[in-house]
Amino acid sequence: MKFCPRCGSIMSIDRVRKVLKCPRCGYEEAASGASLVLSTTIVHTEKEKIAVVEKSAGVPPNATLLRGHVTCPKCGHNEVYAWQMQTRAADEPPTTFYKCAKCGYMWREY
Ligand SMILES: [Zn+2]
Ligand SMILES: [Zn+2]
Repeated sequence: MKFCPRCGSIMSIDRVRKVLKCPRCGYEEAASGASLVLSTTIVHTEKEKIAVVEKSAGVPPNATLLRGHVTCPKCGHNEVYAWQMQTRAADEPPTTFYKCAKCGYMWREY
């Protein structure tokens, strides 16, 4: 978000002309690449989101360590990190991801 240097209003982005424009006084300036990217909502498909999760080896900070509730299908260890992520439409239930605390195997459950 950027404020107009003339009147202090919030500038809006004209994506077609790639300029920031003040809706109040009409001040314009060239939009930098970064501000265009930041304001663009990047919509990932479910597959892309899961690919991102599976590529990142780390466990997110909101993950909880489950002891004895879930068993790793690979090594049979029963300490597993679990976390949820909204991978589909907002009105659908989130996907639960699991990661084995021992061997690092990751899987998901709907
Ligand atoms: Zn202005
Ligand atoms: Zn395991």
